[in-house]
Parts: sequence; structure tokens; C-alpha cells
Amino acid sequence: MFEKVAASVLIVSLCFLTSACGGGDEGADQSQELSTSTPSSSEASAPIDRRRAAMIEADRNAEAWFTTGGQFGEKHYSTLDQINKETVGALGFAWDYDLFTRRGIESTPVIVDGVVYGTGTWGAVYAVDGKSGEEVWRFQPEVEGQVAKDACCDIVNRGVAVWEGLLYVAALDGVLYALDKETGEEIWRADTFASEPGRKTSTGAPRVAGNVVVIGFGGAEMDARGYVTAYDLETGERAWRFYTVPGSPEKPYEHEELAWAADTWDPDSLWKAGLGGTVWDNMVYDPVLNLLYVGTGNSAVYAQDFRSPAGGDNLFVSSILAINPDTGRLVWHYQTTPGDQWDYTATQNMILTELEWKGERRDVLMQAPKNGFFYILDRATGELLSAENFAPVNWASHVDMETGKPVLTDAADFVSKPSVIWPSTRGAHNWRPMSYSEDTGLVYIPAYEAVDLKVNLFPSGYEYVPHHWTAGVLPLPLIEAAVDAVDGFYPEDGSVDKDALKQTIRDYKEFAPPNRTILRAWNPVKEEIAWDIEIDEFGNSGSVLSTAGGLLFHTKPDGNLNVYDDETGALLKAIDTGSGMMAAPATYMIDGEQYVVVMAGLGGGGFFSYPPYSAAYKYGNGGRMMAFKLGGGETPKPDPVEWPVQPEPPARIGDAAMIEKGKRRFAWNCSVCHVNSGVGAIPNLKRMQPYIHDVFGEIVLEGLLVGNGMPRFDDVLTHDDVEAIHAYLIDAAWTEYEAGSGSATNPEDEIGGLSQH
Ligand code: CA
Repeated sequence: MFEKVAASVLIVSLCFLTSACGGGDEGADQSQELSTSTPSSSEASAPIDRRRAAMIEADRNAEAWFTTGGQFGEKHYSTLDQINKETVGALGFAWDYDLFTRRGIESTPVIVDGVVYGTGTWGAVYAVDGKSGEEVWRFQPEVEGQVAKDACCDIVNRGVAVWEGLLYVAALDGVLYALDKETGEEIWRADTFASEPGRKTSTGAPRVAGNVVVIGFGGAEMDARGYVTAYDLETGERAWRFYTVPGSPEKPYEHEELAWAADTWDPDSLWKAGLGGTVWDNMVYDPVLNLLYVGTGNSAVYAQDFRSPAGGDNLFVSSILAINPDTGRLVWHYQTTPGDQWDYTATQNMILTELEWKGERRDVLMQAPKNGFFYILDRATGELLSAENFAPVNWASHVDMETGKPVLTDAADFVSKPSVIWPSTRGAHNWRPMSYSEDTGLVYIPAYEAVDLKVNLFPSGYEYVPHHWTAGVLPLPLIEAAVDAVDGFYPEDGSVDKDALKQTIRDYKEFAPPNRTILRAWNPVKEEIAWDIEIDEFGNSGSVLSTAGGLLFHTKPDGNLNVYDDETGALLKAIDTGSGMMAAPATYMIDGEQYVVVMAGLGGGGFFSYPPYSAAYKYGNGGRMMAFKLGGGETPKPDPVEWPVQPEPPARIGDAAMIEKGKRRFAWNCSVCHVNSGVGAIPNLKRMQPYIHDVFGEIVLEGLLVGNGMPRFDDVLTHDDVEAIHAYLIDAAWTEYEAGSGSATNPEDEIGGLSQH
């Protein structure tokens, strides 16, 4: 069924940041004809109301950090400069605060009136005094553990919005809370998932836009249909909802934009699968233009043949939407990845700034989505100004500046044959926010140059199964563990030549350039790389903050807070904290002292086990908030962790056929989270303790550990299925036990999960 892919395809189809990748420059100064909606003329010129004026004024207060991205342009940049190239040597520990969680921490704090507001597991909020590190209040939403089953990428949260005395946070279960920012007391709540089908989880930060607070959610691989919902800031009353993809044409369209968006879908699309376009991460608000920019995610099923057989752009998947927050109406849109088949979400952070562009000052929006191209748009009109690849891409040769669309290559097609595709499903840039320095004019991108072999999981035609993973495609990293996954995902019925597929992975392992994890300084005006910092930590680039002190702060999973010269990338300072970090730092000022604050904790999609290089492996993964200032002391490290050795597994159960069945059930239902490698917050099921074996069925079918985030699976698995999974796990445990390899982790010894968003 699968043809062996010629290795030469790899060589000729790659586009590695060379001039050969170009071809899109010539038309760069021509305005693109965008297929926009037709906004009423009053929208752009509406008078700036009191609230918007206050936001514009607040934007000038550099002592605070108003949104997760900093000031309202969300540049992840601060004009504070007390900590600078000359003084950074004196940067040290100010305080820390225990988050009491061992799960992934992805939030950039918001800092208002001297209080740091960060978020964590399930949507917990921590309000901490920015000077002393003492708790002001803490909020833990009541979330049913079962909702963890709907999360692709850990039970994380990426932050809050704060405005005029209220704080807004979305819990994992989609309930949006407005809390009193002084006390944490609940003022109102809104269930943003009520009466909508599909498996969804909310992990992004809400945004305040004019008179409303807006929130989206994730679930594009879980049969969700994307939308964002706006609520009145004070009352929580629903103002509007904008669906990012149409529903079945048998029902009326919820709003006018869906009528023409539906023209970009096959009328016989797989509507019941939800079709994604979910807004799982970023939005940004421009109070001057009164536009809310919304980044939408991929569609699912990935393969377009399976979801919209007639093709089409499939609006509005993988797009940037400009919405008038007063009306909920679309003003313009730009689709980064038409008909997205590759999980190339456009949910990555968007930065609003002014650029000197070909002799003209332009108000722009910049985004580096997963698809590998760096986009600059005129943010008033949506006109495309720049789209150069900032990382290796081979799915498209370039973006045609006339049409604004990528020009696909043969490598893009993974449905009729397995195909090796750059960027990988993880994306050339994922949720870790990039930062733009107004001083250097550089954008600092936590980037990833990686490939995967995408293979069709349904070579005989897609079959939609409710409550199942809906990607329909297997993105296999080119590592030995992927060879093993082939057995897990494909049946023994001969419908797929598994040996040929395994050989393809091994062949490409030989030829493919190594994956690189990089902190990349990109010059948006010159459309080229300024410099790179190589990151040793496979796939985990950490996150960044740039400041007017000439500094670039960089959080690392190995526990270091690195500080570089923002012009050259030279390392000026490294603080070893002993706490692994992924989330972006923020900075603020209290009583004349500048602080840098970061929230530590590894996890999230792709990091369900702790690699040996990580601080989590050495010191555990106790989440904590840490602040640093000039003249601070040495950072206290957590106690080192002694991980338990693998216990002797119980006696094998079942026969070879049962084990084989269990392996497939495990691959399809469990392997998204349980990477079964080394140690981590998600247990390695090859190392279960005897008392866990005793209650294995109760855990999987009855939800015995649902409070820990282990959902019940009785909607998709039978008792026999679970017996088979248990038989497979015991068999795999014995293999590891007898090899004596159950003591250390290997960063390459993991699939990394099916999805990293
Ligand atoms: Ca996705």
C-alpha cells in the first residue's frame, strides 16, 4: 500500500533558507487582493471610547505588564532598563512562590498594581505580591478530572487578562471566570462550552478588547468546531460568538461570514467531525484600531480528502482574523495555510508594532506560525507585506505575493504516499512566545527545525469514530521509537506494508539533517536571520523576553535563566535555578526596583517525560514562580530527586494475539499522553508499582484516578480491550526489565506524543 519514498525527493524538495527558496520577492510591494468581508465604513473610524482611551494610556506604563505579552502590542518586550548590559552581573534571586503542582506551566504572568498574576494546572490562578513574593490570594477552579481526556497537550493554562479591577481566566473545562483582582472572589462565570458538541479544552489566555473579554479553546484533533466568544466585561453577559468554520449547510449559518466561508468547503464535508479551526492560544487587541486579532488552528481530519473531498481553502482554518470587538463582525482575514493538512496552526503569538517598510511607516502585525513562514501584515487592512521562511520548509516552495498563498510542492502530499515534511507537526514555532525588541528591530523566535514522516492512518478511507482522535494522520519523528509505533497503529491484516514503512523511517534517519532547536534572531525588515543560538535541549527551546536594557532573557528546561546581549546573542549571565522552565519571563518595576519573573514547570505537549538534561529530571518538577532583581542572592534549588528503579513486573498475561491487540489499543487511545519513556508527570506504564497493576481496570474504566487527571475510558474501551492493554504493558515492562534499561531516559526514546498542538 505504501510506496517507498525515493531518498532523492528529500534532497530536491528541501528549501533551506537559501535564495533557491525565494521567487516570492518580486511582487512584494504589490498589494494583495484579499478576499475580505465588507465591513461597514463606520467600524474603522468609530470614536475611541473611554475604555479604549484608558487602554492606550495604560500602555505607556512600563512598570506594569498588562497582558500576557506585555503592553497591548504584546511584543514580549519592556522599555525598563535598570537591568542592562552593565548591571546584569548583579542580577540575583529576589523571591519564589510554590505552585504545588508538578504539571506543565506555560503562562506568562500579568503584573498590575504590584501584584503578579500567573496561572497553572486546570486554570489555577496565583496572585503574588511582586515585591515580597507573598501570596495575595489563590484560586483553584473546580474542574471535573474527566475533562483531561479532551486535552491533547497537558492540563496547562497560558494566563489571565486583567482590567479595571477584574481578572479573567478560563479553566480547562471552558468555564470563564471573572474574579475580583484584589481578593480572588468570583464575580461572574460563563460556561463557554455549554450546548456545543465536541471535545474541547480551554488553555489560552482571554483577551480584553473594548467592552468585552474574549476566549477560545483547543480540540481540533478531538472533533471540536472552533469559535471564540465575547462576554461583557462587567456582567458576563454573552455579547457575540464567532465560529471559525461553518457547520453543516443543513442548518442556518450562525453569522453572515460563514455563508461565504462555506463556499471554500465541500458541501459534503465531514461536518460531524467538528472540523477544527480552534483558537487554542493567541489573540491580541489593538485599542487604536479597535480590532481584535485572532489566530485559528488546524482542521481535522488533517487529510483534506477525508474532510472536504472537493478541496478548497477551508476558511477559516489556520488563519489570522481581524474582528471588530463591538460587533463580532469580521473586518479582514488572512489565511496562512489554505486547506491546511499539516497541523500548521496560526495560533502562535502575534506582535503589533510599527515598521519602516520600503520607505513607508506601516502599522503591522507579525506572526511566525507553525508552517515555517514569517508573516508581516498591514494590520489595518490585512495586506500581506512579507512571507519569508524563517526555518526549513518543503511543503511549499514559497508564498506567492500576488495571491498571498503558498505554492505547494509534491512533498506536501502525504495521503497518496508517506512523505517527509518540514516543518514537523510540532511546527517551526509553537506556543512559546516570540519577542520583538523595538531597539534592535529583531524578533527572537523559539524555533524548531525538524521533520516528520507523515503517513496516512486510513489508507482504505477515513472512518469517523465519535470520541476518538481525529487527526487521521500519523506524524512519525525519524527516530527508532517511531518504527515501533508503526506496529502499534497498523493492523496485521496486510493492508499496509509495515516493513516498507519501517525501512522508510530508517532510510530517512540516515539522510535527514539533524533536528535543531534554536533561539533565532530574525530581522523582519531584511527578511533574514540575524543570528542563532543553538539549544541542546531536544525540541524544547524555552521562551524569551527582550528589554530596553539591551537584554534578551531566556528560560531553559535545564533550569537556567540565561541573559544575552540582544544585538549579538552573547551570553552575559546564567542563573541556575534547579527548576525547568518553558514559560516566558515578564518584567515590572516596584519602588524603583526592576524585577524579572518567570513561572517554572516542564510538561505540555511533547514533554510528558522528563529528559535527562532537564532540571525536572534532576530536581523533580515542583512548579514555582521565581523573581530576580539587581543585588539579589543565590537561587535556592530544590532537593535532588532519586527516581525509583523499575519494579519487577507481575507475571505475563494473555497470548501473543492479545498482546498485539493491546499494543494497538494502547497506541490509539493512550500513547498521546503516556509516552512510556523514562520518568515524568504522566506515569511510564512500563514501571507501574504492584498496587497499580491490582487496580488497572478500575483506573482505566471507572476513573479511580480521575482527580489526578487520569480520565475514564469506558466510552471507547471494553473490559477485554483493557485486559489486552494490560497484557501488552506487562509484556513491554518485562522486555525493559530484562534488558536492564529501565533506569534512565533517552531524549530520543519517545514519540513525543501524536500532537504538540
Ligand atoms: Ca493541532
